[in-house]
Amino acid sequence: MKVLLTTLHSRYVHASLALPCLKAYCQSVCSSIDLLELTSGQPKENLLARIVAADAQVICFSVYLWNRVTILELVCCLKQIKPDCRIVLGGPDISFETADFFHRYPVDAIICGEGEVPLHHLLAAWQAGQQPHAIAGLQLPGADPCYNDSMLESLDMLPSPFAAGLVDLTRGLVYYESSRGCPYCCSFCLSARSRHVRSFSLERIKSDLDLLMQEQVPLIKFVDRTFNYDPQRTREIFRYILEHNKSSAFHFEIGAHLLDAPTLELLEQVPAGVFQFEIGVQSTVPATLNKVSRSVSLERLADNVRALSTRTRIHLHLDLVAGLPGGGLGDFLDAVDWTYALGADHLQIELVKLLPGTPLRLQADELQIHYDQAPPYTILSSPEWCFSDLERVRGIGRLNDLLVNSGKFPRLMERLMTVHGSLSRSLDDINTYWCEHGLYADSRSLRALAEELDGYLCRCFSGATLADLRESLARDYAHCERVVGGSAPAFFDQQLADAEQKQVRQRVKEYVTGLERDGKVQFFSSVFYQLPQAPGRRIIAFVYVAKTATGLEVKELLL
Ligand code: SF4
Repeated sequence: MKVLLTTLHSRYVHASLALPCLKAYCQSVCSSIDLLELTSGQPKENLLARIVAADAQVICFSVYLWNRVTILELVCCLKQIKPDCRIVLGGPDISFETADFFHRYPVDAIICGEGEVPLHHLLAAWQAGQQPHAIAGLQLPGADPCYNDSMLESLDMLPSPFAAGLVDLTRGLVYYESSRGCPYCCSFCLSARSRHVRSFSLERIKSDLDLLMQEQVPLIKFVDRTFNYDPQRTREIFRYILEHNKSSAFHFEIGAHLLDAPTLELLEQVPAGVFQFEIGVQSTVPATLNKVSRSVSLERLADNVRALSTRTRIHLHLDLVAGLPGGGLGDFLDAVDWTYALGADHLQIELVKLLPGTPLRLQADELQIHYDQAPPYTILSSPEWCFSDLERVRGIGRLNDLLVNSGKFPRLMERLMTVHGSLSRSLDDINTYWCEHGLYADSRSLRALAEELDGYLCRCFSGATLADLRESLARDYAHCERVVGGSAPAFFDQQLADAEQKQVRQRVKEYVTGLERDGKVQFFSSVFYQLPQAPGRRIIAFVYVAKTATGLEVKELLL
């Protein structure tokens, strides 16, 4: 019996962990299991052709919210092309279907929750020419769902997919799990269903990490839901990585409120660029935290994020979720400002999704939460949130990515925050302009983005404030893009007298001579009147020293 395990990634760089784990566990019962990792963006016909070409009798799909619609279309086509093939679906987006799903789609079995044990059971039965009997985690036509997310008593029972060479290590990013489950039960999260946390043994974790570090995988992304649930285990893994790492970077999702003094001390030793922490703040409104059963000390979280930000070189990414019950737009904007003030590198703002199987989705009717019934199940309205407020937050999140997380407009955003009094009010004001002018419709180049921002500034400000903001925008832009005199955006003042131009050339020449490097250096000069440290008419020559992987190296010469 030939089996195909397949999925569609949202981007090519994502390498599956689920499929190799399933193969590692099931290949004892069925020796012919192929893996096929595809990308959603490909035309459906191509995806279909690749799957059909695998010539399998059993085709198993791993279903997530980003691939569900396409996979269900593929399933319907496959059953017409290969009526005898058996189709199995598994994954978080399919684990909670009711019995009528089998009437709507030509599917032979659904794996609900953790997949290894039920898939092994199913394939063993089919391999032996028998009908499988129902077990937890395996849903067959005519039966109700039977979710179970802790089937493997010991995670070490799962043979290492890395040691077996089943994980594609060439994509630049590898997902790795050292534990399953989460000790918390936030009602909007699927992990709320599995409070029982299981860890692989430390020996197993170390041997897997050895292999990945030896291979110098550029980024190893731990998918553990709360990696640091056990401080001692956490420190042992961190220490092991610090002692053995060659050149990999590591991403962890952590609970910042759980960090203790010895762990923070250890984290001070992490070199720049090696660790990234993703920290869910989610909400700062006590009523909301209470309603979504999220028991986190915000005070400890804030103290520890500040400690990470000031004492370590770890890249910090914080998450906030809008649309949760217990608070509305005003509370959320306060949460944005509170979270931004913690000093992280990246702040992600998202609307809550009512994911299948989560307690919040089960309570949606009771809480009068309306949501899109199609993936990604985003909230549409609730008693605390009207659709237009949610849209405002969506816009604020997008602008936050473009203007703050991108790191391209630090001076402008700092000045705007002074003028408006906060980050949230600044973004909200830009969002109003963006909506009025239909600017969310297209993606735009950095120059076009800067010119739209200039349009916003000219429309909403005047006098010295406008001049100050435009100059901040001009300096930010000159640091991101090589500006060429004659075709520079309008927010640059290029009115230099002949004598000033001569002075600039002389100054740049002296600077370049001091650099002791070959080759021509390009520069661009502009007039400024509102520089914080040097008021009055001044000239800045932006000297483009080099272009590196992380951006332009630009030197400002002040005249
Ligand atoms: S949001 Fe985070 S802490 Fe809460 S249940 Fe999910 S994984 Fe656990």
